[in-house]
Amino acid sequence: MLPARFDYVAASSVEEAIAAKAQGGDESRILAGGQSLLPMMKLRFATPANLIDINRIGGLDTIERHNGHLHIGALVRHADIAASGEVSGAVASAAPWIADPLVRNLGTMCGSVAHCDPEGDWNSVLLATGAEVIAQGPSGSRSIAIGDFVEDFFTNTLADDEMVVALHIPVPSGRSGGSYQKLERKVGDYATVGVAAHLELAGDGTISAAGVAMTSVAPINRKATGAEAVLVGNAPSAELFAEAGEAAAAAADPRDDVRGSARWKRRVVAAFTRRALAAAAEEAQA
Ligand SMILES: Cc1cc2nc3c(=O)[nH]c(=O)nc-3n(C[C@H](O)[C@H](O)[C@H](O)COP(=O)(O)OP(=O)(O)OC[C@H]3O[C@@H](n4cnc5c(N)ncnc54)[C@H](O)[C@@H]3O)c2cc1C
Repeated sequence: MLPARFDYVAASSVEEAIAAKAQGGDESRILAGGQSLLPMMKLRFATPANLIDINRIGGLDTIERHNGHLHIGALVRHADIAASGEVSGAVASAAPWIADPLVRNLGTMCGSVAHCDPEGDWNSVLLATGAEVIAQGPSGSRSIAIGDFVEDFFTNTLADDEMVVALHIPVPSGRSGGSYQKLERKVGDYATVGVAAHLELAGDGTISAAGVAMTSVAPINRKATGAEAVLVGNAPSAELFAEAGEAAAAAADPRDDVRGSARWKRRVVAAFTRRALAAAAEEAQA
């Protein structure tokens, strides 16, 4: 199928993109990698009147560490993250699991986050690490906690005249580690189940902070707060991680579908949470 008619703007600056978005209101869409938007337009699930292409804007493709966080610009592709020496923990672990090489070469992390697909992997990583979305509008930029950014499936809390310019992922100063575990039916598929884990260790080796979040097992990527509460203040161990796995499974709300039964997916959540936590602890202790 062909997309419906649309107007096209190739913005040369963030300001120009925001002005075009403000003018078009909710009929406008930012075009980044196009790996989710264009298929939706071809199927006519999305029929934006205006497409604002941000691919020619300079300075949005940087990955850098400053002020205690990792800055990932709006034009950083999944493949850039997979190849970057700046990333570690759950971010580095998840990057090679996003889609396939073709999609990774074009799709952006910010686009994936803005898309709010509950089967998308990045929003679980951002929930586990406590990341923030940097949105820019006509009157400046603001920082939105990822948990407040995702409103519902395929719905974010950006205003019509705002765009995402970057993501900020905290880089802990002490010992930390993370992992993303994904079950997929075949290479390049969306997750049947995905679990992101992030751990920080205190001087005595106990867990001082923990993040666990799940993909494809709820209407939005879901933080397993019960599992996080089980972990904090305790020493890492297989028994503790098994307990956290059960807490995560209890928080999951999967559906029966072609990928498997809800009951089975809950067991996968428990097992993958254990694995993700064990890998995160190993990295933190190294
Ligand atoms: C075959 C296939 C397999 C895939 N498998 C996976 C997978 O396993 N895991 C996974 O996580 N994803 C997967 N994806 C999705 C892929 O990761 C997309 O790249 C990603 O979802 C969107 O990024 P994009 O840059 O292509 O965004 P686009 O398609 O350009 O945009 C997506 C949406 O986000 C909005 N948007 C984009 N950038 C911004 C911005 N800066 N500010 C505000 N709004 C913005 C757009 O307006 C649109 O609504 C797959 C896609 C395909 C085609």
